[in-house]
Amino acid sequence: MAINESQIEEIVKQVLLNVSGTTKVKNENKAIGIFEDIEEAIDAAKIAQKKIKKMSMEQREKIITRIREKTRENAKIMSEMAVEETGMGRVDHKILKHLLVADKTPGTEDITTTAWSGDNGLTLIEMGAFGVIGGITPSTNPSCTVLCNSIGMIAGGNTVVFNPHPGAVKVSNYAVTLVNEASVECGGPENIACSVTKPTLDSGKILMTHKDIALLAVTGGPGVVTAALKSGKRALGAGAGNPPVVVDETADLQSAAKHIVDGATFDNNLPCIAEKEVVAVESIVEELKYHMINNGCYELKGSDIDKLVNTVLINNNGIIGLNRDCVGKDAKVILKKLGIEVDDSIRCIIFDADEDHILVLEELMMPILGIVKVENVDEAIKLAVRYEHGNRHSAHMHSKNIDNLTKYGREIDTAIFVKNAPSYSALGFNGEGYCTFTIASRTGEGLTSGKTFTKSRRCVLSDGLSIR
Ligand code: NAD
Repeated sequence: MAINESQIEEIVKQVLLNVSGTTKVKNENKAIGIFEDIEEAIDAAKIAQKKIKKMSMEQREKIITRIREKTRENAKIMSEMAVEETGMGRVDHKILKHLLVADKTPGTEDITTTAWSGDNGLTLIEMGAFGVIGGITPSTNPSCTVLCNSIGMIAGGNTVVFNPHPGAVKVSNYAVTLVNEASVECGGPENIACSVTKPTLDSGKILMTHKDIALLAVTGGPGVVTAALKSGKRALGAGAGNPPVVVDETADLQSAAKHIVDGATFDNNLPCIAEKEVVAVESIVEELKYHMINNGCYELKGSDIDKLVNTVLINNNGIIGLNRDCVGKDAKVILKKLGIEVDDSIRCIIFDADEDHILVLEELMMPILGIVKVENVDEAIKLAVRYEHGNRHSAHMHSKNIDNLTKYGREIDTAIFVKNAPSYSALGFNGEGYCTFTIASRTGEGLTSGKTFTKSRRCVLSDGLSIR
């Protein structure tokens, strides 16, 4: 079932009531694990990893439990810090994202052993730590990615050095400090997660090539993932998406409209999995739009669509880029830039788009949905595959026709495929399954968790311990 705005408000209210007595004041949090120099951070994480590696799984799980508690206690502060520092997203939705990390990121239970026993003895596959992992994190989900990665990496016996996004360094480093506080409070070492005061492209490059970094986990746009894949190290590449949502003539249109708008407006469309454009069959497109408008969409027409293009994109000597003043902003704020005043009930901008429309092709990360009308579902699938740009990231569909759903899933071949629900259900939010904020779309591991950060070891004992 989808969650609606009033339910979200109610959950956030409850959370604020629950955490108000325990929430820390921002500046009281003394930084732990934050270094001026990335080489120092790597040295410190290396020392801490030797200690983590020797810990029992029970001890690791204790630290993870404390990280979860601290994430809940600090959800509001980190959400406010992220919006203040990056100028993107919504505090109420970011609180929900932090709670999701706390509640549904797998811990040590994710690190399992496979065994074969028989006439020749016993063989085990055990999942071991890589060592020190290099983490690159985005500005769109900064502290959530740090916390989610840290839980999984520590479950696997690793420590991590982050080079966080420079535009989100304060909140990212706040989260790094929480991870270390959790460890120390449970009798563990400091510096199980490390970071730097001033992350730069150069510090990122050092991290990507340092001899003591065993694995890279890179969450961000195409540039940084490509750089990591060229580094010569093993890299988990969690790159960009541009998720299309297809609606065919069999869909429950009222529910499809609500799910699409709920997903596309979650944290103002910052999540990489969020619906970024709609491709709908022409026989139902007007009815779909009618329901979308009833769910808080404002439809732009005529020259206002051109104004939108000129507002949200920047043409820098022929290179088209996003206007960062619009990324992750409320629909109301973007509309105001076009000279259109609306009230708070408007949460998404929609417009009829032709199939080559630039706002459909670009990954905007804004609550804006171009709606492309097509004759039939085959045409819709073809266009959706084109809009996804081969990222193999996420795709969504509203349909009751199993053949159509299957065909789309096969053609688009993405790490995430959500049917008849908002995109965020793929993160475990009102959906089954665990949470992650690093979806290794480019390199194929998909939704990462503790086991993704481990390596496989086969251990064989001949002629013994088989007692059948
Ligand atoms: P970004 O690519 O601007 O930045 C990501 C990080 O990479 C930052 O820390 C940045 O400083 C660093 N960086 C960029 N180029 C680099 C290079 N050449 N060498 C070293 N470091 C470099 O991303 P953003 O704007 O913060 O985040 C949005 C993008 O990330 C979107 O494209 C979104 O789809 C993607 N994303 C993907 C996932 C996923 O799980 N697949 C999750 C979140 C965001």
